[in-house]
Amino acid sequence: MITVLALVGNPNCGKTTMFNSLTGSDQYVGNWPGVTVAKKGGMLLNHPDCEVVDLPGIYSLSPYTLEEVVTRDFLVNEHPSVIINIVDASNLERNLYLTTQLLELEIPVVLALNMMDVVNSNGDEIDIARLAKELNCKVVPIAAINGSGVDELIKLAVEVAKEKVSNQALPIFNDTEEIAVRGIERLLPDRESTQLKRWLAIKIFERDPKVFEQIKISSNLLARMDALRNGCEKAEEDDAESIVINARYRYITSTLRDCIKKKLRTWELSVSDKIDNIVTNRVLALPIFFIIMWAVYYIAIQTLGSMSVESMQAVFGFISEQLTNLMVIGGVSLTIQSLIVDGVIGGVGAVLGFVPQITILFLFLSFLEDCGYMSRAAFIMDRAFRQFGLSGKSFIPMLVGTGCSVPGIMATRTIENEKDRRLTIMLTPFIPCSAKMPVFVLFAASLFPKHSWVGPSMYFWGIIMVVVSGMLLKRTSPFAGEPAPFVMEMPAYHMPGSRTVLKHTWEQVKSFILKAGTIVFAASVLVWFLQSFNTSLVLVEPTKSMLADIGHFLAPVFLPQGFGNWQAAFAAITGFLAKEAIVSTFAILAGSGDGAGSKADLVLTLQTIFTPASAYAFMIFTLLAAPCCAAVGAIRSEMGSWKWTLFAVGYQTGLAYLLAAIIYQVGSRL
Ligand code: GDP
Ligand code: MG
Repeated sequence: MITVLALVGNPNCGKTTMFNSLTGSDQYVGNWPGVTVAKKGGMLLNHPDCEVVDLPGIYSLSPYTLEEVVTRDFLVNEHPSVIINIVDASNLERNLYLTTQLLELEIPVVLALNMMDVVNSNGDEIDIARLAKELNCKVVPIAAINGSGVDELIKLAVEVAKEKVSNQALPIFNDTEEIAVRGIERLLPDRESTQLKRWLAIKIFERDPKVFEQIKISSNLLARMDALRNGCEKAEEDDAESIVINARYRYITSTLRDCIKKKLRTWELSVSDKIDNIVTNRVLALPIFFIIMWAVYYIAIQTLGSMSVESMQAVFGFISEQLTNLMVIGGVSLTIQSLIVDGVIGGVGAVLGFVPQITILFLFLSFLEDCGYMSRAAFIMDRAFRQFGLSGKSFIPMLVGTGCSVPGIMATRTIENEKDRRLTIMLTPFIPCSAKMPVFVLFAASLFPKHSWVGPSMYFWGIIMVVVSGMLLKRTSPFAGEPAPFVMEMPAYHMPGSRTVLKHTWEQVKSFILKAGTIVFAASVLVWFLQSFNTSLVLVEPTKSMLADIGHFLAPVFLPQGFGNWQAAFAAITGFLAKEAIVSTFAILAGSGDGAGSKADLVLTLQTIFTPASAYAFMIFTLLAAPCCAAVGAIRSEMGSWKWTLFAVGYQTGLAYLLAAIIYQVGSRL
């Protein structure tokens, strides 16, 4: 018999941190809600008969958002052996709201008071024994971040699961409410257990739509339940749902009064609040956000990053030289030599050359995220997005999308409003992902060596186009509507752990390298093949190759954007395989003829193909046009319809085409 431990709690309370340390896995720990959107299971280390399940964070068991549905369905249908309810002990008032609901289920609950390190350093005191007595369940203080108390928690949880210790619903109601709820409970059919009956009764009292779908009650009984509820609503002059919410908070407040001693705060603001007064200031917030993001991209692209790229290029130059020598000695045919040196090393190497910059970029972004600033960014963007009808919730997928649009698009699942969710899916790919970075960096370095603003400016074009598109599309009927309220607590600022930051960065860099080894590799071989042969499969000069044929055919399409030549037109299309493939295409084109393409060849090639205006237009096109096929696949599966997918891709590509044309036409006249 496998014991299943379910980790349940509010967003951001440390569930995934716990899950990772319990199972030794590497799930994404994020400093904002909605990071875990699907449940994940793993075996407990050193306990072969125990499984741990990490569930999406929720504030309540009412199924309003997708995460709430995932978590609730899991608890109600799969019936785990024990719930480990992780709560942020530095924020008990809000966290216990969910606890009061979990204790109504039939599943045993153990309460884990996480973040005790924060509570202790705040100087607050929690009377654990008393709290356990009040809530009638086991309570264990822990700090998931350093593992203290975790062993004891697991031991207790496994014990509780084996003994099947049952919960007792908390006495949250006053007399009037209790009479109504108990009345409903008595009317329920006898086949349900007492504990489940209590839960069902409260849900029926609240008019929870899901519960009515699940159980069959005769219309006669329903009418009697309605009467009980109506009586209570009339007496309290409130609707049933609010009555239950109030009852829970009333109970929590009175319980905590006895269990927690908060240290009297001096009138001084804490450091966190002081920082927030500046960075979330109405006037300064946006400028500060832009300056921070600018600095991040500037350092990654222009300074530290570009220095390290030089040395990476040298490494790949050296490798291809040595390989060529070896192959010459080995008598390998010229075609194969060209495939390996020009195609594979040229194409994949050109992309891998950007690993240092990607690493530096994500070191900064992970730092900003883990120290707590990115939560503020979502809050700041909430104010900006609200002007045109989106909420800060839409900004979170875009933050996730700076790594890769695919998880970004998936992160839109936290948006309950279907229209807003669709719009966010459409706009998330505008934020440059790590695959677009090499293109921008290469172009900025080759054509704008004196203009350091060019590379970082792409991030801002992305945000501007999100805002502009939001304003435009929100006026049309498929997207119109008020933005949902956005509630998100701000974690206190803290110095990020180097482990967390390094792990985040490594996750991003790893997937970048993996992609270079798979899809970029395949694309490079394909591009090499197309540019080496003509349609009769005879080896030819690149200008007479199949690639040139295709390029010439496509070129006129991009005349208004200033890159209506065969090389650029073909490269723009390879971006749909993977955005990095644009870089490998140019590298292969540059390398042909005289062996390994050096960095200088590549720069020279780009300078002959592009003018500054057409290069900037090309960057804009790469930024905004339909994302790579993997991201289009994600759009399709999240939208659940081809019609919407086509609309999204059409909109993105149309906007990219238009803006690139405007930029070129204006830019070339300046
Ligand atoms: P989840 O949303 O519940 O899965 O929460 P995460 O595991 O993603 O953690 C949210 C944030 O809380 C991360 O920044 C963690 O580093 C931090 N965190 C988790 N546990 C602790 C803890 O015990 N103490 C402190 N100070 N921070 C913690
Ligand atoms: Mg999580």
